[in-house]
Parts: sequence; structure tokens; C-alpha cells
Amino acid sequence: MKLSIDSNLKLNNGVEIPIIGLGTWALYGKEAHQSVIWALDLGYRSIDTASFYNNELQVGRAIKEGNISREEVFVTTKVWNSDQGYERTLAAFEKSLKNLSLTYVDLYLIHWPVSDLRNDTWKALEKIYLDGKARAIGISNFTIRHIDELLNLTETTPMINQVEFSPFLFQKELMEYCQSKNIALEGYCPLTRGRRFNNPIIKTTAQKHDKSPAQILLRWGLQHDIVEIPKSGNKEHLKDNISIFDFVLDKEDMENLDKLNEDFRVVEDPHLIE
Ligand code: NAP
Repeated sequence: MKLSIDSNLKLNNGVEIPIIGLGTWALYGKEAHQSVIWALDLGYRSIDTASFYNNELQVGRAIKEGNISREEVFVTTKVWNSDQGYERTLAAFEKSLKNLSLTYVDLYLIHWPVSDLRNDTWKALEKIYLDGKARAIGISNFTIRHIDELLNLTETTPMINQVEFSPFLFQKELMEYCQSKNIALEGYCPLTRGRRFNNPIIKTTAQKHDKSPAQILLRWGLQHDIVEIPKSGNKEHLKDNISIFDFVLDKEDMENLDKLNEDFRVVEDPHLIE
């Protein structure tokens, strides 16, 4: 099927998430507000934030001020590590809702699999879900070991696992594992924060398709059924990052990009968490 800016991925509970959204880490104050306004104007319909990003207030305000109805925007936020545990998570969720000025979120995630707390945190997310305050719930930075542990304890399979993912961190085993459990994979740092734009394979593939390195990286993820959330505070980049539906990476391109794995991480490795 031909992908477009309006394409969604159906989660295991039937809720649909746009295949591309705006990441908002390191966007603060006016910049966070402005980026969300631009993104919604340009056609983005999914915004990823977290209490840890300290911008829920600005994100919520921009969503309210934009010309898009609440139901058309998919809003994700996350519970931070120091708020984990059953009661604390419930309280943190209410605080996030208040900051965002929303009555529900579309997706609520456990930001990191904090040892000893993550399973109680998950129970709180189940309650939030059953109460109808989050249309979907999920996890972030969970490895196969963390997911296995959770699946043995719960009857609610997380709808999404948000993890670092790029050709340079091609987590094929995790991808196939999540797909086999019907957990959608959402990729963060899909652009490697720009640190691999100069890779020769990325550059030649970009030249071949008359696209930018960022566009090649994003298209690669989408063709692996990964939901992508590139961050940008720059209007031209925001445009660039959704102008990826007028070309297709062919089999040879995909094979070349699939070979770029070097276990390169921008963010801490969650395998280190017990
Ligand atoms: P990223 O999206 O890989 O890279 C963002 C960087 O790339 C920014 O410096 C941005 O600069 C630049 N950029 C964006 N578009 C570009 C383009 N078309 N051409 C050139 N440069 C471009 O990194 P990220 O922000 O770390 O990851 C994306 C999102 O994932 C985050 O914002 C956050 O929402 C989420 N995330 C989640 C976790 C987690 O633990 N769950 C961890 C990290 C990130 P400009 O702003 O100047 O465009």
C-alpha cells in the first residue's frame, strides 16, 4: 500500500497511530510551542512528549490553539522514572493531563523499565487505560527480557514499544520479537541526531533519490513498519521530514541500509537495566 502523511498503523487494540509524528525532546518554551504549531499546519497529526521534556504545557497550548480538532491529533506522553510505582504513576498521569490541558491522551508510555518499579507502574497504566484516560498504553526502552517479564505478569499486551532505532542501531531481533507479539515498534532518534548524515551509503542513497540524508533514514524506518518521531525546531526540516512519500527505497537500497548496523546509540543502552 502506498504510504502517505495520513497513513496510520493499527495497534493491537484497534487504535490507529500516524506512522510519522513530531518528537519534542529538547524543545522548550516558545520553541516547543512554535514547532507544534508549524507541525500541525504542515500536516503532522502526532506529537510525542514526556513529563521529563518539561514542555507539556507548551505542547498542550499549541494543540489547543491549532486549527485541528483534538480527536485528529494523536498525543503521546510518558511517566518519568522518579514518578514510577502504582500511586505515583497515577498522580504523575493526572499532572501530565493538567499540563497538557487535555482530558485524555492517545498513548501513555513507561519511559524506562525501572527495576523493581516497572511492573507496578504497568498496573497503573492498565487502570488509566481501563478508565478511558489513555486510548493506548505502552512501554519505552524495554528490551526482549523486560518485555518477556511483563508479558508473564499481565493480560494487557502493551500496544507500543518506543526504542532507539536507525540503520546504525538496526535492532532486528527486537523488531521481529515485537512484531510477533503484536507490539508496534516506534523509533526514536531516527535521525541519529544528525550524527550519521555523512555516512557514504546514506549520502549515495540520498543522491540517487534526490533526497536528504534525513529523508533516507526516515523512509528506511517506515519501510520496516516502524513508527517514526523525528524532532525538529526548524520549519524547513519539519517539511523535509514529511516529504518522504514521493519515493520508495528499492530492495537494493534497503539491503544496503540494513547492513549499516554498528549498535550505535545516542541514548543509554536499556540492556544495562536489570
Ligand atoms: P532525532 O529526531 O534523531 O534528531 C533530531 C536532530 O536532528 C535535531 O538536532 C534536529 O535539529 C535535527 N534534524 C531534524 N530534522 C532534520 C533534517 N531534515 N535535516 C537536518 N537535521 C535535522 O533525535 P531525538 O530528538 O533524540 O529523537 C526524536 C524524538 O524521539 C525525541 O524528540 C523524543 O520525542 C523521542 N525520544 C524518546 C526517547 C525515549 O527514551 N523514549 C529518547 C530520545 C528521544 P533541528 O531542530 O535544528 O531541525
